[in-house]
Amino acid sequence: MMATLGKEQAHLIIVVGAGPAGMGVVNQMSKAGHAVVVLNRDIKFGGLAEYGIFPNKLKLRGGLRKSYWEILERPNVHYFGNVSVGRNKDLTVEELRGLGASALVFATGAQGTKTVGVEGDTALGVYHAKDVVYHFNRLPGFAERPFEMGRRVAVIGVGDVMVDVTHWLVRYKQVDEVTAIARRGPAERKYNPKEIRAVCSNIDRDALAKEFARIRPRLEAVGQNPDEILKGMLDEFTKCEPLRSQTRMGFRFLASPRRVLTDAQNRVRALEIEETKLEPKGEDFSAVGLKQYYEFPCDSVVFAVGDRVDETVGLPYKNGVFVTNPVRTNNDPDDSLFQAYDEASGTVIEGVFLTGWARKASEGLVGVAKRDGEWCAEVVTRYLETQSPHDRAVIDGKISQLRRMFDERRVQAIDVEGLRALEDAEKEHSAVNDFIGEFKFVSNQEMLVQIQRMRERPRASAAR
Ligand SMILES: Cc1cc2nc3c(=O)[nH]c(=O)nc-3n(C[C@H](O)[C@H](O)[C@H](O)COP(=O)(O)OP(=O)(O)OC[C@H]3O[C@@H](n4cnc5c(N)ncnc54)[C@H](O)[C@@H]3O)c2cc1C
Repeated sequence: MMATLGKEQAHLIIVVGAGPAGMGVVNQMSKAGHAVVVLNRDIKFGGLAEYGIFPNKLKLRGGLRKSYWEILERPNVHYFGNVSVGRNKDLTVEELRGLGASALVFATGAQGTKTVGVEGDTALGVYHAKDVVYHFNRLPGFAERPFEMGRRVAVIGVGDVMVDVTHWLVRYKQVDEVTAIARRGPAERKYNPKEIRAVCSNIDRDALAKEFARIRPRLEAVGQNPDEILKGMLDEFTKCEPLRSQTRMGFRFLASPRRVLTDAQNRVRALEIEETKLEPKGEDFSAVGLKQYYEFPCDSVVFAVGDRVDETVGLPYKNGVFVTNPVRTNNDPDDSLFQAYDEASGTVIEGVFLTGWARKASEGLVGVAKRDGEWCAEVVTRYLETQSPHDRAVIDGKISQLRRMFDERRVQAIDVEGLRALEDAEKEHSAVNDFIGEFKFVSNQEMLVQIQRMRERPRASAAR
């Protein structure tokens, strides 16, 4: 059945999550003339574009903010920040489905973090990279939490997030030492060569050469050439940002964290590391433990080994991701990749879609998430062709029903007007936060008070 849109008719699409992927969907669906409701956990939109990417990337962040404002200010887009969807949250998935929108898209990102599941990983001084990143980007809930890093920090992982955390430790915390710990070797490093420029002035090159000497036999054993790999790594240390602290950054390769060792106060004192060797696995290599252990002294440990989705959202979940339809459809093999799927009943969850890091945790940069959202919008558009549109009055009724649900539950949902008020309140502060180069309120409570204050201001002056 092909449903055509009358002038007074449209589809209502609900998008949960206003990060790059969600905004990609909102952009496309609103351009097509549909009514779009956006529900976002954070008061502010942007997701990791606002609270993830490193604070000094002001141009990237500013450009994204500008484009998101333009989308959210469209008359057929209805933004509600400070609304969490999930079990025991403001609204459940079932309640949202009950509203009878034509489609429901989850673009909630990957809010959970992976650990390597080692003994002692709940000790004081063990952190997840995303929490650290949220902290230094001033996300409410994380901004004011203490992150006591000590003088020597071990960061587990060798991807871009490791680089961002190291950048913060080098530039802001100015710790003595940061060591990136990798289970595999230097050839398997994952960070982008451009990103390492932020910290390469701090890399101790003599120590790096010694680390290569230490692991040389194990690299050669699998046909890797340590000299070439070291040269390749050093060649990337060009255009390094100026040295801003005396922090020494180093690497420990072929090193698998086994236990976090603690003192009597349950504070981190060291990592127990197992030596590994490389073993060919297809085109790649995997790390195999050698049962030789040593202690690596450190005061804190940051796990930067990727993310998993938040299973409390209440969508079918398995192994760190929400489940998507494993059955490839005939008409378009891509559609299934975005369809939420219930394995218990072996059926697609009708009208429910996933996109961005909610469907592929930790995969790609902002541009990839945006494209994923646009791709999802195409899939939703094909789905809408099988659905009857609603009269616009019916859509308005559904949005009013949603507002009533917020009121009944005392959810202080923030619309675009509220966001503008918040922006004005932040602009009143000439002092910028020490590190992020602009002023941000750091708690939801503070933001809500400021929004209220700004909203009352014109009325108060009119009354005078
Ligand atoms: C540390 C770090 C640094 C990065 N740096 C860069 C960079 O420099 N350049 C670059 O291009 N990319 C960078 N990326 C990658 C980029 O941020 C991601 O590709 C992108 O943000 C993923 O988009 P998303 O929309 O899928 O998820 P997110 O950006 O995580 O957005 C998810 C949104 O969902 C909302 N949400 C979550 N749970 C709920 C819920 N239960 N109910 C309602 N709303 C919910 C959140 O409030 C958020 O707004 C970085 C990522 C990280 C982790």
